[in-house]
Amino acid sequence: MKLRWMRAPGIFKILFPDFIWRYNSGAKKVYLTFDDGPIPESTLWTLNMLKEKSVKATFFCVGENVHKYPELFQKILSSGHAVGNHTYNHLKGWSVDTQLYLENVIMASDLINSKLFRPPYGQIKRSQAKHLLPEYKIVMWDVLSGDYRKDITPEECLKDVLKTVRPGSIILFHNHQKSEVNMRFTVPRLIDELKLQGYEFDVCQ
Ligand SMILES: [Zn+2]
Repeated sequence: MKLRWMRAPGIFKILFPDFIWRYNSGAKKVYLTFDDGPIPESTLWTLNMLKEKSVKATFFCVGENVHKYPELFQKILSSGHAVGNHTYNHLKGWSVDTQLYLENVIMASDLINSKLFRPPYGQIKRSQAKHLLPEYKIVMWDVLSGDYRKDITPEECLKDVLKTVRPGSIILFHNHQKSEVNMRFTVPRLIDELKLQGYEFDVCQ
C-alpha cells in the first residue's frame, strides 16, 4: 500500500482551532463534501448518484463555475444539498494578498448564498481567516480522499477512505475532471459500506 496523508497535518489544527475539522457531536454521522464544481458531467453524475442513495452532501462551489452553470447550481440546491463558498477563482490563499482574497470571496458570495467557506487547497493566511471568521464557518476536512491522485487506484482510494473514516468525519471529494475515475468508483461504494456500518449522512452547517 502506498503511504499517504489521509488527514490534515496536526499543526494546521493547532494553528486554526477555530476552523471546523470534524463534527464532534458523538453521533455516528459522516459529511460528504464535493469541491470545485459545479461542472456538468461530474456534478450531474454526483447528484443522480446521491439521489439514488438518498444521501445529502455539501458542495463547495467555485464562483466562476456557478456563473457558467447556474442551472446546475440551482439543481444542487433544489435537490436539498448544502452549498459553500470556495472563492470565485479558486485562489491559493498563501500566494494572494489578503484584500484580493477577500474580494474574491465576496464576489463568489453574490452567487453562493452560504455561511460556509472552504479555502481552496486548504491554504489560507491567518489574516484572511481573521476577516472571514465573523461571517463564515470555515469548514476543512477530516478525511482527504485523494481522489485527484494519479498514483492510486480507485480500489486504494476507497480502501484508504474507509480505513480513515470515523464518527463526525468530513470527507473531501472533488467535482472536477482529474478526480472523476477515483471519485465515481469510491463514493457509491463508500456510501453503501458506511450505511452497513450504521453511519448516517448529513450536510455541513
Ligand atoms: Zn478546490
